[in-house]
Amino acid sequence: MLIDTHAHLDDERFASDLADVVRRAQEAGIEHVITIGTTAESSQTALSLASQFSALSAAVGIQPNHVAQAQTGDWDRIVRLSSKEKVSAIGETGLDRYWDFTPFEQQEDYFARHLELAHQLELPVVIHCRDAEADTLAMLRERYDRHGPISGVMHSFTGSLETALACLEMGLYISFAGMVTYKNADDLRQVAKKIPLERMLVETDSPYLSPVPKRGKRNEPAHLVHTASFLADLLAVDFAFFAQQTSRNARELFRLNGKD
Ligand SMILES: [Zn+2]
Repeated sequence: MLIDTHAHLDDERFASDLADVVRRAQEAGIEHVITIGTTAESSQTALSLASQFSALSAAVGIQPNHVAQAQTGDWDRIVRLSSKEKVSAIGETGLDRYWDFTPFEQQEDYFARHLELAHQLELPVVIHCRDAEADTLAMLRERYDRHGPISGVMHSFTGSLETALACLEMGLYISFAGMVTYKNADDLRQVAKKIPLERMLVETDSPYLSPVPKRGKRNEPAHLVHTASFLADLLAVDFAFFAQQTSRNARELFRLNGKD
């Protein structure tokens, strides 16, 4: 059994067949999926999906590229949603220099708010980092120095080994998505080999980043099996052992026991 720690099931690409998507996930051995909000609206939808399907829980937050469009009241809405049952994490949040949708200072402001909210509620934080490793590490380091270990995950990790090690040292988990299966992702595979299995998570980031052999198609949680078996081979461990350990990690970080 596997846990998909990051999917966007509120995406319109799932609107017509979500019940089938969830059923296929369960048939493929995905016992739980965390569906991740990217705006106040999508966080609300994520939460309502989590109350409809017992195998789902939600993360609520405003993704850095969406921060610029946030309306007055949206942050308060996230704060209100964050205390609901079936919320397993705060996010996704983080920093992104690849896209230029949100002024960087505003991204930093919202990243800090999410980190503080997660800290107050003792919930893990789901971190997006694209082309902003040094900035992200600096903000995390500053919190770590004040509050100690940070509960959370570097989602869909694509950074350097140095960044990964610094994150591990601050208490974070490292999560891999379908990209690790791509032909040109040798550097990422070298990083994955160095991450202790007890700190590793897996995710689909559905509907994006479909793993080989589903690359190019809409991604869905059932496809997690391909990424997980690829990683198990890469690390030269048994698939069952890999699944058991990464699921244990996810249950521990997101405190899933009792949320199904
Ligand atoms: Zn995401």
